[in-house]
Amino acid sequence: MKRIGIAGAGVLGRLLAWQLSRAGHAVTVFDPAAGPEAPATGSLTGNSAHAAGFTAAGMLSPIAELDNAGPEIARLGWRSLALWRGIADELRAEGCSAPLFEQRGSLMLAHGADLGAARRVLARLETAPSLAAELPAPQPLHRAALAALEPALAPGLHAWLLPGEAQVMSCDMLHALAVHAPNVHWCWGERVERVESGVLHVAGEGPVRFDLAVDVRGVNSVHPRATCGVTPSRGRQQRPGEAGSALAVGGEMAVRGVRGEVIWLHAPGVTLQRPVRLLHPRHRVYIVPRPGDLFVVGASEVESEDRSPVSLRSAVELMAAAQSVIPELAEARIVHMEANLRPALPDNEPHTHVEPGLLRINGLFRHGWLLAPALVVDAVARLESEDPHPNPLPPAGEGASTPRSTHAGARPSLPRPSGERAGVRGRPEPTPEAQQTH
Ligand SMILES: Cc1cc2nc3c(=O)[nH]c(=O)nc-3n(C[C@H](O)[C@H](O)[C@H](O)COP(=O)(O)OP(=O)(O)OC[C@H]3O[C@@H](n4cnc5c(N)ncnc54)[C@H](O)[C@@H]3O)c2cc1C
Repeated sequence: MKRIGIAGAGVLGRLLAWQLSRAGHAVTVFDPAAGPEAPATGSLTGNSAHAAGFTAAGMLSPIAELDNAGPEIARLGWRSLALWRGIADELRAEGCSAPLFEQRGSLMLAHGADLGAARRVLARLETAPSLAAELPAPQPLHRAALAALEPALAPGLHAWLLPGEAQVMSCDMLHALAVHAPNVHWCWGERVERVESGVLHVAGEGPVRFDLAVDVRGVNSVHPRATCGVTPSRGRQQRPGEAGSALAVGGEMAVRGVRGEVIWLHAPGVTLQRPVRLLHPRHRVYIVPRPGDLFVVGASEVESEDRSPVSLRSAVELMAAAQSVIPELAEARIVHMEANLRPALPDNEPHTHVEPGLLRINGLFRHGWLLAPALVVDAVARLESEDPHPNPLPPAGEGASTPRSTHAGARPSLPRPSGERAGVRGRPEPTPEAQQTH
């Protein structure tokens, strides 16, 4: 068993905590958020400083993301889809009753005049034969087929079914990962100022030692040293997931925030079975159905670290595009608007940095939900391969048995960080048995 300290309880932090604690490690997580719950909805004011993972629509679209990303992202994403399915199954088996994952494919749409953008995505698949062999082919849908599949969509749209694409219910999944992670010590309301090999420097507390320190603070992991002096690499191009030009001294990453805005609509009576994405020369607009007659419409992409409320321009453009795709949304009620920052590195690709006692993952940008499980599996494998005394870890979500004890009394005691500080503040979360639903 290793003592692992994680800075950040977003998508990566919670997934790592869930997986590593199930493998028997003593995990402590620090995050400035007040608790594991999703932030309140319905407010149009105030700056959102919570995890980007809560704001995300949760689209898992490796094929459609070829519009913005390269083939390696599509490959990682395709692997992650199967992992998310397994993770959702495991959480359900552990008593989580919330819908967490849906896999019914997605639709790529274009109005008549905007076929170019759609053709670019299709061409990317065709010009990468190995990718085309790994991913299912987009299926063009004629008018009648589209009307049969999704009757609410406007007639006359060009449409392709992207089989296998899926969605994760981001807020419910983040909550479930936290409350069902066994014996993790969650230190809410605690900010980590710096992460070094084997040490988390916690604000107001000082250094706390672990066998492994993990830095998954997303946008806020910017360290002054990392924001300057980063030289673009001129050598071999880095593959997504490898550490490279995005790193400054000591593995710190030159992270920037990229603003994204979403709007939640409530539209009882409007039915959409799967996420749809409208390709347009200026906007990439998606509509993602959620339980409770909700639709998440997103997302803008603005090179700015402004977390202030959604702009009028983005709201008008996103909603106009959504209504052009589903005319019945005209009577929908706007129940929530939110802006947040996607953590991005200079090359807009994810990077993992491993050294003894230290793991950093960042730069998940637009694809955090799409990529996180595969990145976590790969990072854990790298840690194990460099560890002379590894604890074997089960692959997340692949149904592997876990070394969890069957009754509370037989559980290992709560993890405590060692070193300068005897313990940590914060109340341990209830065990899964104490809180079966959420
Ligand atoms: C509008 C929008 C829509 C999106 N839609 C999608 C989508 O449909 N599909 C998809 O795959 N991705 C989507 N994304 C991207 C995805 O949300 C991110 O890539 C993902 O959340 C990144 O995960 P992360 O764990 O690195 O960071 P985050 O999820 O942002 O988590 C970082 C965590 O670190 C904590 N933290 C910050 N500072 C500190 C500190 N000093 N000490 C300790 N903890 C700290 C934060 O409180 C937070 O909990 C979207 C993002 C946005 C903004």
